[in-house]
Amino acid sequence: MPNFCSHCGHSPLARGTPPGDTHERDYCGACGAVVYDNPKVIAGAIIEQEGRILLCQRGIPPRVGSWTLPAGFMERCESVEEAARREVWEETGIDAEVTTPYSIFSVPPTNELYIIYRARVVTWEDAPGPETRAVNWFKPQDIPWDLIFYPAIRQILERYIAERDGGTYGIYTGSMEKGVVHFMQ
Ligand SMILES: [Zn+2]
Repeated sequence: MPNFCSHCGHSPLARGTPPGDTHERDYCGACGAVVYDNPKVIAGAIIEQEGRILLCQRGIPPRVGSWTLPAGFMERCESVEEAARREVWEETGIDAEVTTPYSIFSVPPTNELYIIYRARVVTWEDAPGPETRAVNWFKPQDIPWDLIFYPAIRQILERYIAERDGGTYGIYTGSMEKGVVHFMQ
C-alpha cells in the first residue's frame, strides 16, 4: 500500500486510531483521510459431476502448479453469487449455476473471507482463461492433496468428501480455528 495520502498527496501516512474511530489504521495527518483495509471476499464453487470434483491448476503466481477450487476475488458492482459464477467461468470455461451456500470461511491472518457455494454445470463450451494451466475432475481418492495449498480450500474439500458419503451437506461458518456446521432442518 503506498505510504502517501490518495486524497491530498501528503506523505507519510500516520498510524494510529483516528479521532472517533475504534481501530488502529493508516490515516493522513494533513487532511484526515483514513485508509480502510477491510477484508477481501473470495467467491468460488465446489462442483461435482459423475462422482468427480472439479479442480483447476493455477497457471499464474502465486502458487503456480497448485490445485484449487475455482475461486477468486469479488469485483466491484457484482454480487457474491455472480462473482462465484464468473470465477468458475474464467478458470474452467464452465457456465455454472450456483445452488447452495457451502462455506463462509474467515481467514483473519490474511484479511480474507471465502464464500464458497455448491454449484452445477449448465454448459461447458469454453476453454479456461490464462490464469489456469489445467482443469480436471478428480475422484475423491485421486485429489492431489500435496498440491492443494490454501488451508480454507483443503478444509472445504475434506468436509465435502466426508459429507458426500452420508449424502447430507451442511453449511460451515467459521475460521481455521473454530467453526460450526449448520444443517438444514
Ligand atoms: Zn490527505
